[in-house]
Amino acid sequence: MVSPNIRYGARIRKRQRAIKQQKITVYKCESCGVLAVRRAGTSIWECRHCGAVYAGGAYTMTTSAGDIAKRQIKAMHKNA
Ligand SMILES: [Zn+2]
Repeated sequence: MVSPNIRYGARIRKRQRAIKQQKITVYKCESCGVLAVRRAGTSIWECRHCGAVYAGGAYTMTTSAGDIAKRQIKAMHKNA
């Protein structure tokens, strides 16, 4: 279990803050446009409105690495 009070290490405190933040953050669904996407598990994001499931970051909907991958996929489609 995760300890409710983490005392040592700036890195781990930062991570704990990120985890607490994601629990209350709701994202806009790319499929239906409704602000109803919540974290369903690590890297799993689910729209409570239409049921769409997204693979994202562990604690945030998108990651910088994910954005780069998206851009590359878009570029590949353009060239095909
Ligand atoms: Zn949706």
